[in-house]
Amino acid sequence: MNTEVWHRKILNLYWTLIAITLVGQMVYAIGGLKLAPDTTVPEQIGYFILPCSLFMLLIMIVAEVWLRAEFRFQKQIVIGCGLLVSYLLYFIVEPYIDGAQMALMIPVMASLVYFDLRMLFALGGLNLLMYAGIYFGLERRLLEKPLLEFLMVESIFIVFVVMARGVIVRAYETSQYLEQVTKSEQGLLVERALSDKLLKIDALTGLYNHKTFHEYLDSLLEQSEKNGLQLQLALFDIDNFKQVNDTYGHWIGDIVLKEVAAKIGGTISLNDFAARYGGEEFAVIFTDKSLEDALVLAEALRSGISEMEHPYAGGKPITVSIGLCPYRAGDGKELLFRRTDEALYQAKRSGKNRVITAGEHRLVPV
Ligand code: GH3
Ligand code: MG
Ligand code: MG
Repeated sequence: MNTEVWHRKILNLYWTLIAITLVGQMVYAIGGLKLAPDTTVPEQIGYFILPCSLFMLLIMIVAEVWLRAEFRFQKQIVIGCGLLVSYLLYFIVEPYIDGAQMALMIPVMASLVYFDLRMLFALGGLNLLMYAGIYFGLERRLLEKPLLEFLMVESIFIVFVVMARGVIVRAYETSQYLEQVTKSEQGLLVERALSDKLLKIDALTGLYNHKTFHEYLDSLLEQSEKNGLQLQLALFDIDNFKQVNDTYGHWIGDIVLKEVAAKIGGTISLNDFAARYGGEEFAVIFTDKSLEDALVLAEALRSGISEMEHPYAGGKPITVSIGLCPYRAGDGKELLFRRTDEALYQAKRSGKNRVITAGEHRLVPV
């Protein structure tokens, strides 16, 4: 809970109570009204009223200054201030009003607002002792209050503390329950995010899978048609990969696939998208760059892959052939693929380990 807001609210309530009491006293003094004409107030109690009121104001001012100047012990100050104010209020109104003992509940109520069980018991116990002191020290002698009233008030204090404890315990149970619900909801969210990811990612290489690639390409082509977004498709095919499998085994072939995929994923820029398109084929979508830039990047990928070392696969370089094709507005996905495939085929036919662009661009390794 936002404790600072509650400090403020509780202090405002104290101020309201004090204002009502002071206004009441003024009306009483100015109008000469007798609120309880039958009450016999001993002379000496009347002298307490002014100093008590002033002291109450002073305590409130100290609490206000503390809340503004100091961040520590704010709750203790609010409760302590409530304790003093409640006893002073009690001294002010008690001679005139029956049941003024209710004022002593104020700090206990405040501890309930803070859901503070220890404070509730401490203040409840303090009230029992203090009121016993006040009753036997002052009220019984000066006001001749009956013992039954004392017992009633003390019993009400006890009942109130027990009930307030019930409220705090229930609030605690509820917050525990809410915490549990939130945690399991978070768990579900994480699980969903993970399974979403698993559905999109190729398990062996960690690149996006075939299905996600097509979904992404569809949405990019839509954007390209709408906003003229520049887009190039590159299809990669590992050269003579069957040989790797046949010579070193499928397991080594898998390691090579992982390494080539990591190289592609680590080299493309943030605007690009790489997927494992099929067995030993990868697809990269370049976006937001010119065909020349895409070609330079594709060439960097080709040479980067050919320079990788694979000691477990006989130390021989693994190379890729790449077909690159810029998207032309209105072509559609099918034609884009046909043109890219054709470029890849050209790259294979003209000797492998090269990038061929659909159209006239052509880069061969030096
Ligand atoms: P080219 O240069 O013409 O592409 O020759 P290639 O040997 O790479 O072509 P081919 O398509 O004949 O062989 C591809 C091989 O890739 C066949 C298959 O055994 C292998 N392959 C496909 N998927 C996997 C995989 O997940 N793991 C492994 N280790 N091998 C795979
Ligand atoms: Mg192939
Ligand atoms: Mg191949």
